[in-house]
Amino acid sequence: MRPLRATVRRTALAHNIGVVRAHAPASRIWAVVKADAYGHGLLRMLPVLAAASPAGPDGLALLELDAAVQLRESGIAKPLLLLEGFFSADELALYSRHRLCSVVHSLEQVAMLEAAPPPGVKGAAPIDIYLKLNTGMNRLGLSAQDFATALQRLRACSNAGAITVMTHFADADGPTGVTEQHARLMAVLVEAGKRSGLGAQLPISMANSAAILRYPETHADWVRPGIMLYGCTPFTDEPAFNAAHFGLEPVMTLSSEIIAVQTLRPGDRVGYGGTYTARQDMRIGIIACGYADGYPRHAPGSDQIGTPVLVGGTCTRTVGRVSMDMIFADLSPVPQAGTGTPVTLWGDGLSADEVANAAGTVSYELLCALAPRVPVDVMG
Ligand SMILES: *Cc1c(COP(=O)(O)O)cnc(C)c1O
Repeated sequence: MRPLRATVRRTALAHNIGVVRAHAPASRIWAVVKADAYGHGLLRMLPVLAAASPAGPDGLALLELDAAVQLRESGIAKPLLLLEGFFSADELALYSRHRLCSVVHSLEQVAMLEAAPPPGVKGAAPIDIYLKLNTGMNRLGLSAQDFATALQRLRACSNAGAITVMTHFADADGPTGVTEQHARLMAVLVEAGKRSGLGAQLPISMANSAAILRYPETHADWVRPGIMLYGCTPFTDEPAFNAAHFGLEPVMTLSSEIIAVQTLRPGDRVGYGGTYTARQDMRIGIIACGYADGYPRHAPGSDQIGTPVLVGGTCTRTVGRVSMDMIFADLSPVPQAGTGTPVTLWGDGLSADEVANAAGTVSYELLCALAPRVPVDVMG
């Protein structure tokens, strides 16, 4: 059997939920499980996700409606939050039937709620709303003015249930931070409170992983951790704030083996395009893992810079170009390695953050890109 496999450890997910609780003890937790739990497999993680709070999360946030319905059908009774909300009015009946909580980020969505049949008609129940304010990311979210309008209209709309205020930070992981965005949200709430006597007392949700770890003032009522649950750091540009620094444990380990060895003479080149040239006699190991498995094709393997990889527990680097099914590792630091030697691409002993960093991307992308052809073992 091809030796490449991913192993996912539920105990690590449970541990990382504990890290979130330790940082935000007064907040409830939406575990962000979009993109099939960041590539780990939503249903594989279910025993931990379904565990009662505080061991498990208080709710699950995602944006795929079919997956949310699947969670309900798997018996999950916890709150479920759809992060992009509904896209058309015909989805509202499903939201109502399955008690799905929806982000509302546009006046178009408000209008759809107003136009839907009132609760009680065909058994419809009001839908709980996360009303989203744009605080500078300029992706989803209402302007301050539209936010006040939406709040008033939703208050008057019998299809809207409980309202929570939310925003998403653009730079909680970067140098600019969240201070200005946080202040904007608070100002809008104070204004809404003054105008209509509501707003100020509504529950609030702001913090992603980076804000949870770095900005306690943003924790509020509900936090929304994603990447940290899977054991990676949101601070991709700050080596000191790595996953180990926060005590996060990797949930996914991608492992394989050396399936062949080549002995190179000076001047021999490696892989498509021959982008790596041996300077001296050396051995290289051929690893069963390529970009069709989700390994980043842009991971460097040039003379100057390679991508870290563990061979027989020793950290070495890739050489040559990543191909569809294989990569190459420099065996110089591991002379005893040969065919059959175990390899860790990322996970235990080598954070996906380090691999992503070398490849000019983020661990989020590596985890989500794990290909369906890779078999997954579940532990814990
Ligand atoms: C994905 C997402 C999160 C989680 O972000 P992380 O950086 O992975 O913690 C939180 N909130 C929203 C709205 C998201 O889309």
